[in-house]
Amino acid sequence: MTRPVLAIHGGCGAIPRADLTPETDRAARSALRRALEAGYAVLDSGGSAVDAVTTAVQVMEDDSVFNAGYGAALNRDGVHELDASLMDGASGRAGAVAGAQHIRNPVLAARALAAVSDPLLLIGPAADAWAAAHGLETVDNAQFTTPARQAALHTMLERERQGTQASATEQEKHGTVGAVALDRHGHLAAATSTGGYTAKPVGRVGDSPIVGAGTWADDRTCAVSGTGKGELFIRFAVGHDIHARMLYGGQSLETAASGLIHGDLAALGGAGLCAVDRAGTVTLPYNTEGMYRGWISADGQYVAIHED
Ligand code: ASP
Repeated sequence: MTRPVLAIHGGCGAIPRADLTPETDRAARSALRRALEAGYAVLDSGGSAVDAVTTAVQVMEDDSVFNAGYGAALNRDGVHELDASLMDGASGRAGAVAGAQHIRNPVLAARALAAVSDPLLLIGPAADAWAAAHGLETVDNAQFTTPARQAALHTMLERERQGTQASATEQEKHGTVGAVALDRHGHLAAATSTGGYTAKPVGRVGDSPIVGAGTWADDRTCAVSGTGKGELFIRFAVGHDIHARMLYGGQSLETAASGLIHGDLAALGGAGLCAVDRAGTVTLPYNTEGMYRGWISADGQYVAIHED
């Protein structure tokens, strides 16, 4: 029997160390712990990797600390357009929603779509309608909004007026949540959910709902969930490329993942990911100042924000 493990990220747009108050630090760490413990409870009782990543991501979607679900970033019109996906490494099935405005937990819709896998990806009002028709909770778009996200939108639009958006911090730019798991039966799964980035263009879709970019899982190799500049994850097919480097190139998970995050992507934009391979090895590379992250297994629990 395989020793189960779960790893998560809460985005590579961590608040810079200098600006992180003890209260925010505590809130972020305890949210990460809650997600890890909820997901691991599923694995520990013999549940599937798919159920574990769904549970962990749902906990983070419900926590306003992170940019997904409740507390997600607003687009430039002040609307939440939510993206999520999930992939099952055992069956290769996957599901995703993009630009959803009303699904309370987008990861649940991704999971339900993965169960059918055809359609695999639904967008906008069709995603919302499909979720409602399949018994998922839908809410008013304003219910995802927090004062912090409204303030972030105001600041970003002001930066654009002044032409200073290039100097926005990673925290202003990034945020996503994701989870990867290996279950007792040796199966892998990955899930990712995001509001994208503050003041994103209306209709912009990032990597999080794109299977092969922000999310990937295959029992032969690994499970991956990404965070960071979504356009880069799509261009480099990051999730699938890590899998391919392992499967065809014989690379270890760590070499493959860090080759992308610290190699190909490093000069182009902020990026990070959580990943686990079929042997249970976890890697959490990022090229920004910090990434909310952690893992949990029978060996214990690890939670971090910046470099230790
Ligand atoms: N990858 C997400 C996106 O591009 C955002 C992020 O993780 O910072 O939508």
